[in-house]
Amino acid sequence: MIIILNEKATKDDVQGLVSDLMKQGLKTNISEGSHTTIVGIIGDVTALDIDNIKGSDFVEDVKRVTEPYKKANRKMHPADSMIKVTDDVTVGEGIFNVIAGPCSVETEEQIIEVAEDVKKSGATMLRGGAFKPRTSPYSFQGLAGEGLKLLLEAKKATGLPIVTELMNLEHLDMFADVDVIQIGARNMQNFDLLKEVGKCKKPILLKRGLANTIEEWLMSAEYIMAGGNENVILCERGIRTFETATRNTLDISAVPMLKKLTHLPVIIDPSHATGLSWMVAPLAKTAVAAGADGLMIEVHNNPAKALCDGAQSLNPVQFDELMQDIKRRVAFEGKRF
Ligand code: PEP
Ligand code: MN
Repeated sequence: MIIILNEKATKDDVQGLVSDLMKQGLKTNISEGSHTTIVGIIGDVTALDIDNIKGSDFVEDVKRVTEPYKKANRKMHPADSMIKVTDDVTVGEGIFNVIAGPCSVETEEQIIEVAEDVKKSGATMLRGGAFKPRTSPYSFQGLAGEGLKLLLEAKKATGLPIVTELMNLEHLDMFADVDVIQIGARNMQNFDLLKEVGKCKKPILLKRGLANTIEEWLMSAEYIMAGGNENVILCERGIRTFETATRNTLDISAVPMLKKLTHLPVIIDPSHATGLSWMVAPLAKTAVAAGADGLMIEVHNNPAKALCDGAQSLNPVQFDELMQDIKRRVAFEGKRF
């Protein structure tokens, strides 16, 4: 439920209302806009005297929030959330971010070379998997702790913030210097992991599960936010459908739908969505037009030799060409890097 306050509401009015609600065992979420303040209520509201609340002259309206996600709901927080990654990098409305890098960190030369190349082309963050969720136990599983170390070296060399996947909650301590923690598609409903990253303050890149609805995805964001971490970035990476021509099917309609349902930023990963490097550029351009807040793109210095996902990886020249095009489209949309 939300209580919409009008311009007459003073700080004392808001405080009084919040403490009344807390006495009734409810949690609140305050969102201040330029003309109205919204007090979101989380908890069982069946015993609330709505007519009494509506009776205050500083209350404009009271509305039920029927969706199961509350903190992630745009009704609770009408303004877009801006997620601060570093002093120089923020994800959210009006700003376009491109996260680029290899599927997996392989060697020091590889990650440093790719980091320098993608930075030159305008990427704002570096990606690279150290812990890899692979379908086959016989495939390359990532360099684990060594991979994290190499990523941090690439961060030092280029200044790019790093994004990497956490698969096991016991590894969280090793992620202290990671800028954005990725929760991969396969772990979107690993609720223990979601609760754990909900306790830290780092931005979380939450990928959509392979076969999950938008509502399930927002409920996973809600898990992280309910734990106290509101820094969630959603990443659409394609879903499982009957189609086999592409690795997954990019649900581009998720972008406008999420923009309506939630205040959280949304980025698109066209690499995992298609599995085909030649399809990355057209879908990346589509993502800009659909209103996404950014892209995550796999780039490898030698895709043919990549230990993971070479077929969907761009080489640095292809990535640079795409970035020149994307920059024009981002400007056309009235956004900046
Ligand atoms: C990845 O980004 O490295 C990855 C494994 O992606 P996803 O979880 O979307 O499959
Ligand atoms: Mn990959």
